[in-house]
Amino acid sequence: MTNNIIDKTPSAYAYPLLIKNLLANPLRQFPNQEIVYGDFKRQTYREMGERIHRLASGLAGLGVKPGDTVAVMDWDSHRYLECFFAVPMMGAVLHTVNIRLSPEQILYTINHAEDDVILVNTEFLPILEAIRDRIEPVKKLVLLNDADQPPATSLNIDTEYEALLATGDPHYPFPDFSEDTRATTFYTTGTTGLPKGVYFSHRQLVMHTFGVMTAVAGSGQGHISRDDVYLPITPMFHVHAWGVPYIATVMGLKQIYPGRYVPDHLLRLIQREKVTFSHCVPTILQMLLASPVVDEVDLSRWKVVIGGSALPQTLAQQARARGVDVFTAYGMSETCPILTLAQLKPHMLDWDEERQLDIRCKTGLPVPLVELRVVDEAMNDLPHDGKTPGEVVVRAPWLTQGYLKDPRNSEALWHGGYLHTGDIGVIDEEGYLKITDRLKDVIKTGGEWVSSLELENLILKHPAIEETAVIGMPDPKWGERPLAVVVLKAGQETSEADVKALLQDFAAKGIISKYGVPDRVVFVDVLPKTSVGKLDKKLMREQYKTG
Ligand code: AMP
Repeated sequence: MTNNIIDKTPSAYAYPLLIKNLLANPLRQFPNQEIVYGDFKRQTYREMGERIHRLASGLAGLGVKPGDTVAVMDWDSHRYLECFFAVPMMGAVLHTVNIRLSPEQILYTINHAEDDVILVNTEFLPILEAIRDRIEPVKKLVLLNDADQPPATSLNIDTEYEALLATGDPHYPFPDFSEDTRATTFYTTGTTGLPKGVYFSHRQLVMHTFGVMTAVAGSGQGHISRDDVYLPITPMFHVHAWGVPYIATVMGLKQIYPGRYVPDHLLRLIQREKVTFSHCVPTILQMLLASPVVDEVDLSRWKVVIGGSALPQTLAQQARARGVDVFTAYGMSETCPILTLAQLKPHMLDWDEERQLDIRCKTGLPVPLVELRVVDEAMNDLPHDGKTPGEVVVRAPWLTQGYLKDPRNSEALWHGGYLHTGDIGVIDEEGYLKITDRLKDVIKTGGEWVSSLELENLILKHPAIEETAVIGMPDPKWGERPLAVVVLKAGQETSEADVKALLQDFAAKGIISKYGVPDRVVFVDVLPKTSVGKLDKKLMREQYKTG
């Protein structure tokens, strides 16, 4: 075969797909577009652009070099958006710390990611105070403070964010480097207790931005355009708020960053700023629709993408009754995250509301460049008949190439050259995926993972307990809640309250998150097992479904 690799003229510029290249045009074309931080700050894209240079300069002054890691512990803010750009643009890695993890898990992620500087919101200082003796080695700390006064803390704070920016160079230069340079890192909990780090390069984030933007930019159902006003309601620490802030910036949208998620505050922001586009997990949508403030807010122009868990039909119906354009997205931390969107195809717009609702609640169509298959154990494709289930495996330009410093789990993730989602789904004749089950033994509650294996290990520390299985039970508010099924040792006794108290104690010590403590503990004589002696959690989920 002849070699058709293109010739490169010595002077030709080999344009790298770098995050800085996402930013240049919107700054030039929409300099007066607004970015709002809750009730605290309004700034223009022009100001943001200058602050990004100042931030990088300030971080360089603190010693940050290409290849270093800068961690952020903040609620959603204009600062976080500035970090999304400034840190990778310096050639450093942005570690978006998952502040919903337990303090012990946060400690693990800070040490594992080898963070060099931590930008920390005043509200999270107590977490760092509790773990600081075990953070290796001592980090530089930058305070993110919304109050007028500095907080009382025993930590050694190096500087405050605004002070860092004030002395930073507004023209700090951002170099070119390889587009395969790592830009971000985020930790997901998954099946074992130890969080696993996923990572994305500049190229991958640029490709994700453009792939997903191709699917969402436009007019009509499930699309956004220049006039839209964007408010993220999935945290910026969680795979870059699904990467949407990058898309919103490239499109030059007005962007609203809400700080901590408080339903009434979010609704007031939607009303005040005329928000038309958001994304969140079902639990948050449910909270917004249940708030008394919702009746004061016009949601009829609001488009909201629901992901993280399946969108229940009843919730979608409630949102539709208020005129919300609600539809599903699917992905995972490992996939940057977006893989599919459940937008309606043009011919479906004539369908009646009930049929449309069914599509909106499916898991969606793969976005451009995503190759998504539903396969059997031998990796054979299964029929697209809407009823033959198999594992969802994917390829796309933006999937994590492994877990950070974890070759064994990385190989398992990528077994056979496809990323294994651990989700079970069916594909229908129209090409829509629907997730129907999960291979992975984890529980998702309010959009956050709880490791059943970790809970089981902790419950087994109880001297009276012989065996246990923790399973996820459907819950109208949280999606799922953990339920512990327990077998006692012969002649031993304990109570539900006692088992919960044991786990609450682990939560108080920061070993597990508070939302990980099961609501219910049931005692049985034997746990059902499969033919190969594994706990039959599928059967148990069926058995306990009805309470
Ligand atoms: P995370 O890594 O925390 O983003 O979680 C990703 C996982 O959440 C997926 O592998 C699925 O198990 C689940 N998930 C995400 N989106 C959906 C959805 N639309 N429907 C059903 N499950 C979902």
